[in-house]
Amino acid sequence: MVYIIGAGPGDPELITVKGKRLLEEADVIIYAGSLVNPALLDYAKADCAIYNSASMTLGDVIETIDASVKEGKKVVRLHTGDPAIYGAIQEQMDELSRRGIEYTVVPGVSSFLATAAALKQEYTLPEISQSVIITRAEGRTPVPEKEKLRLLASHQATMCIFLSVHMISDVVKELIEGGYDKTTPIAIVQKASWPEQKIVRGTLETIADIVKEENISRTAMIVVSKCLDTEYAKSRLYAPEFSHMYRQATEK
Ligand code: SAH
Repeated sequence: MVYIIGAGPGDPELITVKGKRLLEEADVIIYAGSLVNPALLDYAKADCAIYNSASMTLGDVIETIDASVKEGKKVVRLHTGDPAIYGAIQEQMDELSRRGIEYTVVPGVSSFLATAAALKQEYTLPEISQSVIITRAEGRTPVPEKEKLRLLASHQATMCIFLSVHMISDVVKELIEGGYDKTTPIAIVQKASWPEQKIVRGTLETIADIVKEENISRTAMIVVSKCLDTEYAKSRLYAPEFSHMYRQATEK
């Protein structure tokens, strides 16, 4: 059996209980070494075979899984955050299906959520933003025309921009051209939940210089949203005059 597991954002305690158990039981672990915290490998048993996929091709990964499964081994493919977000797992899953190899996906805490925790921020403030856009700037991987940052920016929803901090000047330019005011708050969290976590805050106008000064060029989340510094309407969920399935209104 093969388990495709989200390792969480870095802190080894932020993997799910199920993910940890499967790591402990695995005979073979193939982990995405560029981002997965190696501390998670401490959960592996002593005789577990461990491969870093950073230096492997898709073919190498599949062959390693295939050979291990044929030997009756329990295989874990460990991805950072949640594997559904920029995890390149679809091509792996499709190839496993083609070969008739069974697999299960175990979700993880994505870095955009660990970033919210680091910022102590709710992304969905009433009357400010009720949507979260997960996206990236166009780099070597193209982005569909209708999803260009500039177009997404026109919604002024909370945006979590992955894989783009090295292009922060371009990102900011696109966001402003797309309609965000220059004074819109923006936060960058590098290595959220790792011991070396770093948070910087600014506005669209100031952030590029701050990022350069702080030397942040990778493994960072960009969050743009008015929710980062605003007055907002209180949630209806806990309002005394608001009844719902689990609570009757106490005040009018
Ligand atoms: N599947 C992962 C994302 C992989 S893409 C997830 O769900 O989080 C890699 C990008 O994720 C990085 O460029 C960065 O933008 C972001 N990232 C991953 N780990 C991070 C962390 N601990 N803190 C901030 N951003 C992180």
